[in-house]
Amino acid sequence: MPTNAVEHTVIIGAGQAGIQVADSLRAEGYAGAITILNDEAAFPYQRPPLSKDYLGADSTGTALPLRGPDFFAAKDVTLHAGAAVAVDTAARSVTLADGTALDYTHLVFATGAANRPLPCPGAALEGVHALRTLDDAERLQRSLSSARRVVVIGAGFIGLEFAAAARARGLEVTVLEFAARPMGRALSATASDWFTDRHRADAIDLRLNEGVAAIQQDGTGLVVESSSGNRYPADLVLYGVGVLPRTELAEAAGLATDNGILVDSALRTNVEGVLAVGDCASFPHASTGSLTRLESVQNATDHGRHAARSIMGHNGDYAETPWFWSTQGSIRLQIAGISEPTDEPVVLGDPATGKFSIALLREGVLAAVESVNSAADHIAARKLVGRGLRLDPETLADPGFSLKALAKAGIPIPA
Ligand SMILES: Cc1cc2nc3c(=O)[nH]c(=O)nc-3n(C[C@H](O)[C@H](O)[C@H](O)COP(=O)(O)OP(=O)(O)OC[C@H]3O[C@@H](n4cnc5c(N)ncnc54)[C@H](O)[C@@H]3O)c2cc1C
Repeated sequence: MPTNAVEHTVIIGAGQAGIQVADSLRAEGYAGAITILNDEAAFPYQRPPLSKDYLGADSTGTALPLRGPDFFAAKDVTLHAGAAVAVDTAARSVTLADGTALDYTHLVFATGAANRPLPCPGAALEGVHALRTLDDAERLQRSLSSARRVVVIGAGFIGLEFAAAARARGLEVTVLEFAARPMGRALSATASDWFTDRHRADAIDLRLNEGVAAIQQDGTGLVVESSSGNRYPADLVLYGVGVLPRTELAEAAGLATDNGILVDSALRTNVEGVLAVGDCASFPHASTGSLTRLESVQNATDHGRHAARSIMGHNGDYAETPWFWSTQGSIRLQIAGISEPTDEPVVLGDPATGKFSIALLREGVLAAVESVNSAADHIAARKLVGRGLRLDPETLADPGFSLKALAKAGIPIPA
């Protein structure tokens, strides 16, 4: 593909969002040079399987690539090994760890997020793990084969996915969560309570309202001491207590940040020619305008596409409906939209069957749908959520009601 050497887009970070920017730029007809900086040793890979299939007893230990091996040559995209260590936005130049300087016409921060550290004594002991990268997953996979008792700190998505994977390997699994519900930040109380019962039924010892005070090493292994004084012996500890956006380089370069690199609805930062996408970006929510930062493949991918269009001069507003999935053992959770604790939940189907959805109404408008082992509902919900669709709880709860049928029928434009 011929390139216009005057134009050069440099993308910092070879994750889901960064690779998508490059792919979409070419799809949009961008003729300039494209360089992606990769600070990880591995060829760009997908993170979601790392807390799921990758940890299975029969795992091949191979990561799934984000794009096939031919992608970079075919699209004339340079994958450059090494971290960006400084950005000079006045000179439009990026300095890499090896001292190389790259001039850019557009710069995209796709630096992702890093695990929030566990704030307790003993967090750095051997046998205490976090999970973000392929390196982390490789270490965990090795440790799992000799572990018998596992303690998971944090009942968020990563913690529960890992707990289910460890349980499926026959290990004794205890999960400690300091809040009153698992996945409480992202799920309705109704769904969260269902997951509590379900994981307990699968013999995962899920302890709620149980914070962690310290981790100690004793003669036979590790002991996790809770804030209520309980002691949980473990051969392996995994903590998943959230992530922090990687903004350090952007901040040093003078970009505005607020729980992420601040961008406008075209994903542009406060500095001309510089954009930010994916887990590291804090962007205005399409309908409320409030600052939003999301950690999901959908967000990273749709941001990547939108940023590419922005670079090509199409400065439309980013307005994609967020969606997310999590696989916890045999349970597939899919969420469309973002719920709030005050939303009204309406259960569709029978949770006892292990296959149902929960519609969340905000002042009568469909704001989000959580689906458990109900892919058809989720696909329909992605078409329905975010359209201002007003529904009454009685209609939704009727056994004859179907999200799929509603989506197929077409949605009336709200007045
Ligand atoms: C274990 C795990 C399971 C997940 N499961 C799901 C799931 O089931 N569903 C879902 O929707 N989402 C899931 N996610 C979240 C999803 O993977 C992320 O939201 C997505 O990968 C974000 O993409 P990103 O490109 O913004 O960031 P990242 O994937 O974090 O990529 C950013 C890259 O930038 C690099 N970088 C940072 N600073 C520099 C620098 N200075 N120079 C060069 N490179 C730099 C980082 O090392 C990293 O490689 C999961 C995440 C994890 C960790």
